[in-house]
Amino acid sequence: MTTAARALSTGLPAPVAASGSPGLRPAELLHRLRGRTGPGIAVSGGADSGADGSPITHVERVPAREGRRAPWPGWVPAPLREALAARGIDAPWEHQATAAERAHGGSHVVLATGTASGKSLAYQLPALSALLADPRATVLYLSPTKALAADQLRAITRLGLDGVRPATLDGDTPREEREWIRQHSRFVLTNPDMLHHSLLPGHARWGVFLRRLRYVVIDECHTYRGVFGSHVAHVLRRLRRAATRYGSRPTFVLASATSGDPADTASRLTGLPVTAVTEDASPRGAVTFALWEPPLLAPEPGPGPVRPRSAPDDATAGGPDTIATEATTSSADSEIVAVDLPPVRRSALRETADLLTEAVAAGTRTLAFVRSRRGAEVVASMARRALDEAVPGLGARVAAYRGGYLREDRRAIERALLTGELLALASTNALELGVDLVGLDAVLICGYPGTRASLWQQAGRAGRSGGEALAVLVARDDPLDTYLVHHPEALFGRPVEATVLDPTNPYVLGPQLCSAASEAPLTADDLELFGGPPAREAVAALTDAGALRHRPSGWYWTHRGRPEVDLRGTGGAPVSVVESATGRLLGTVDPGSAHLQLHTGAVYLHQGVSYLVDQLDLEDAVALVHAAEPDFSTHARDVTNLSVAEVRAYVDAGPVGLFLGEVDVTSQVVSYQRRRLRTGEVIDTRPLDLPERELRTVAVWFTISPQALAAAGVAAADVPGALHAAEHAAIGLLPLMATCDRWDIGGLSTANHADTEAPTVFVYDGHPGGAGFAERAYATAAAWLRATRAAIASCACENGCPSCVQSPKCGNGNSPLAKGAAVAVLEAVLDALPN
Ligand SMILES: [Zn+2]
Ligand SMILES: [Zn+2]
Repeated sequence: MTTAARALSTGLPAPVAASGSPGLRPAELLHRLRGRTGPGIAVSGGADSGADGSPITHVERVPAREGRRAPWPGWVPAPLREALAARGIDAPWEHQATAAERAHGGSHVVLATGTASGKSLAYQLPALSALLADPRATVLYLSPTKALAADQLRAITRLGLDGVRPATLDGDTPREEREWIRQHSRFVLTNPDMLHHSLLPGHARWGVFLRRLRYVVIDECHTYRGVFGSHVAHVLRRLRRAATRYGSRPTFVLASATSGDPADTASRLTGLPVTAVTEDASPRGAVTFALWEPPLLAPEPGPGPVRPRSAPDDATAGGPDTIATEATTSSADSEIVAVDLPPVRRSALRETADLLTEAVAAGTRTLAFVRSRRGAEVVASMARRALDEAVPGLGARVAAYRGGYLREDRRAIERALLTGELLALASTNALELGVDLVGLDAVLICGYPGTRASLWQQAGRAGRSGGEALAVLVARDDPLDTYLVHHPEALFGRPVEATVLDPTNPYVLGPQLCSAASEAPLTADDLELFGGPPAREAVAALTDAGALRHRPSGWYWTHRGRPEVDLRGTGGAPVSVVESATGRLLGTVDPGSAHLQLHTGAVYLHQGVSYLVDQLDLEDAVALVHAAEPDFSTHARDVTNLSVAEVRAYVDAGPVGLFLGEVDVTSQVVSYQRRRLRTGEVIDTRPLDLPERELRTVAVWFTISPQALAAAGVAAADVPGALHAAEHAAIGLLPLMATCDRWDIGGLSTANHADTEAPTVFVYDGHPGGAGFAERAYATAAAWLRATRAAIASCACENGCPSCVQSPKCGNGNSPLAKGAAVAVLEAVLDALPN
């Protein structure tokens, strides 16, 4: 019997059709969910243990908080106050008033408080007051997503203020409309991409707008991290330079999710001194937060938990010079692959789908966050099927939601959730950002989202109306997730991570200086603005290379066209997925993951419907697909090579060496396996003809001499498996040290690498030029490798499992792996390394 059928047979309240369904209280829902898999434990404060077979390893109660109001600042004009009062806002919360007051006084300020704490009002107050007080003033608002800008536009339009004429400017805005916006709008809502591609290159046409610019609002500024964040930092410096040129010095107001040291991050992002307001004075309902570890499956008969594989391209595995590699793609489908790895635990996807099913059956409005697009669609489709089996038609109240959907699809889904037509969504983090969904009772988080900041952001989606809410983190079969559900102290009561960005990355700085020079010649003063010494160095190199020319008045861009700069580091235009028969555009996929997800013959899921890819046309960035229900899944194979270009730093520790440096990585998707859906059995392996992709990036690596390995008791035949296993676990644990996730990082291990001439494990940034992760790993190597060793040694499995040394993105089918020998290798490395 399915979960829903079982639940319904025990007498559930009938699902409610209209909006405002109260659902179950969190404690009741948690009790019901817990009862699903074993004997229930009474929910009490503090920690539960999972020792009695309950999947719940910990319950944390986050208490409710009273709100604190502040009076309206005296400078807020009456029409604005009245418009806000008409929308039900009688007075600002303290944090809103404090931030607004500072911005009004001309200080750059960042407001870093929780989800639903009303950050918008903090910038609306000074910005709209300025527009009402001065009929010529202008405001520029930047958001990371179109959906969020559209949401803000609605909010400002609803206020009905005279003469503000707010408008969104994005890639979809028609040319005639852009003209109107430029001439008439005084509140332009756009994104860093538009600023970079359109507004700044055309600054002369925007001169009047820039001259009158009073405020720049940067919403959800914590999303500008890594390489993208470093690019945006320079786009903002270019904006400041353009504003200065036309005679304005706008005040920057930033809004951020809770993050470590927001003032420092905001200052690095804007290049300006920014102060932070972090004390949240908005009321909050209590949240019950449960950590959930899916149960172990009964062991399969046969030799150990690792099912032998017989794919032809595994034939070379295990030889003395085996090179094992990991694919890096930012949106790869960990969960899907995990479903097909030899099952040790119930997959987090299935577990989440069951919990979602249960919640919907109980009439609870629930949002499930799933990390990959495909994962979100699988969860939605599994829940729909289970609900339909129980009550035909009930499945229609669950939908999938993700960033790649077309605008109309997204709007329809948001509306349906608002009206109560939909009870639940399975979503990627497209919904993590401020899109306004109200009245959710529960949030399920399928897999640790990578940072504590994201975790709280997602959990904060529940209980917007101030009522009690439930959040459940479902652990994936992954070393970090396993570590966290058993170490709740690493999640609760600890500050969230700082956002990492590095504007001095030469792969960012160089192209950005070219962009700036193409907008207006760079002067010596400008180079201070763009970072001082690193900028001077980069300009000298660009001048030598002929990209810039030095004249007495500055450095000039020498080419006709504009420099090509890829802000988001996705490597070009997204690939469109088109249904062959109808020509219908189903969605888009990042070019970086198109090779893996949309290769010819791949199974592609959209809104729970599966399609087969007929053809991937890389030149036109189109994948042609047709609807099909194959009884197999597809798994792309990736071959990677790595060579060392330059060593930046190293530690010589006798038989062990630790290095940081630049490497060249080439990878190619060469084949794919088709596996039976039910059993995971390999049907066949088919070759693919896709081009290589190249990456110059930063890596951390360690070497250990064969003698030291022998002394540590690692047999020669086990060396490749030991290094490979250590590499997998080390990648899995790195997010403990740096604000990355394992999909940002690649790895390669080999019993003998041509450049190091020794057994070596490489771990590299998956972004051109690096994003700071490898540096962080090098700086914290001893702590990082100690946690890695602990994670492997404490895993209860016999021969390695996804919770310790297996990787969902292994380009070698998780072979060879030697769990015990990996512990010995790490032991030997840690013994040699200075602390
Ligand atoms: Zn294990
Ligand atoms: Zn691997």
